[in-house]
Amino acid sequence: MDKQRDFVLRTIEERGVKFVRLWFTDVIGTLKSVALAPAEVEGAFAEGLGFDGSAIEGLTRGYESDLLANPDPATFQILPWRGETDPTARMFCDLTTPDGQPAVSDPRHVLKRTLAKAADRGFTFYTHPEIEFYLLRSSQLGPDGQPVPVDSAGYFDNVPGGTAHDFRRRSVRMLEDIGISVEYSHHEGGPGQNEIDLRYADALATADNIMTFRTVIKEVAIEQGVYATFMPKPMSGEPGSGMHTHMSLFEGDTNAFYEEGAKYQLSKTGRHFIAGLLKHANEITAVTNQFVNSYKRLWGGDEAPSFVCWGHNNRSALIRVPMYKPNKTQSTRVEYRALDSAANPYLSYALMLAAGLKGIEEEYELPAEAEDNVWTLTESERRALGYAPLPASLDHALEYMEESELVAETLGEQVFSYVLRNKRKEWADYRSQVTPFELANNLEML
Ligand code: GLU
Ligand code: MG
Repeated sequence: MDKQRDFVLRTIEERGVKFVRLWFTDVIGTLKSVALAPAEVEGAFAEGLGFDGSAIEGLTRGYESDLLANPDPATFQILPWRGETDPTARMFCDLTTPDGQPAVSDPRHVLKRTLAKAADRGFTFYTHPEIEFYLLRSSQLGPDGQPVPVDSAGYFDNVPGGTAHDFRRRSVRMLEDIGISVEYSHHEGGPGQNEIDLRYADALATADNIMTFRTVIKEVAIEQGVYATFMPKPMSGEPGSGMHTHMSLFEGDTNAFYEEGAKYQLSKTGRHFIAGLLKHANEITAVTNQFVNSYKRLWGGDEAPSFVCWGHNNRSALIRVPMYKPNKTQSTRVEYRALDSAANPYLSYALMLAAGLKGIEEEYELPAEAEDNVWTLTESERRALGYAPLPASLDHALEYMEESELVAETLGEQVFSYVLRNKRKEWADYRSQVTPFELANNLEML
């Protein structure tokens, strides 16, 4: 018997685990869960667990609805928030059709397929996300129709006795208990806004970790009587919640982005990777920023990127090459700042990797770096420097995506057309709304 499976079965027995949740993710990035009795786990390893895929967003077309969830024993963890008595564990699943083929609509498979392409070229893809979110008093809106944050603190503020401080301590503890290493945590710029940065891991583990992270944060919030949201821009006039992601490619133990003596210690491979991201940025935005609300963040200022350019330590650029740490060749990396906290991490990472790999493969030339604060330049200065805007809305992003061979090929036909359909509907629903903004500005005046 497979060693990892054996370990899982033994742990279930030894720890007296009463429920094992099988987790997977739909195309939009919502976590799905089905609880198994411990006695069923061995069978689920051997044959998978059958379910009706057509009941889940984007997973199948009606006529091929049977899918199997196959638990990945490497992801077995006991869920700390369920307590010590009658413990509950979870495993992420790979989805297959009844004849054993990977389900083309499984986001985890889309990422695995793209990672395999990178592996064919000898690369392992590592990522590290900075996840921002808001803590609110509840999901109810205040009398002014806005969410009510738990505090009015700002960036790096230490709030003695405050909710956020205890909240982060408890969350970090729980994340560590479930095997997710945290690098930093701090209060972010907005009232009630927090950030937790996960440590580097391979992209598949990171994507799984992000799904777990969102669940942990929501659970800790419930426990503490508050509410956590990953909505990209919950409050007008306050910063949005981004999920800036640091990326690097390794060849074995060697960082392929590092070159001694090169500018910013950034190798040719690293430069081509950035060039690929820049060139395809607009095409992947409907996935990295998948909600109508995502564009309120991208165009709402407060350090969210709006223009396609790169820079060294330039927080106004879409892509940043962070300061090199002397003697740390491993740390040369590229930070993509468009992604928001509500993205599907599997699909987003697949596309970011595919864009970067394309840049390497085609040896795209890296344009000159942005040295200025691109938000303070005039429109014509930006045009002269070649800093094109990111899509202005979901609708605009879908237009780019629809024309993109790279996105179609990376997502596969089924996920590609599902995302387009689902997101066009979101846009159409949004467009048909008469908003408070229009009423406030137009009703009395017109
Ligand atoms: N909240 C900002 C964003 O939406 C980022 C702030 C920061 O630089 O960490 O991207
Ligand atoms: Mg931040």
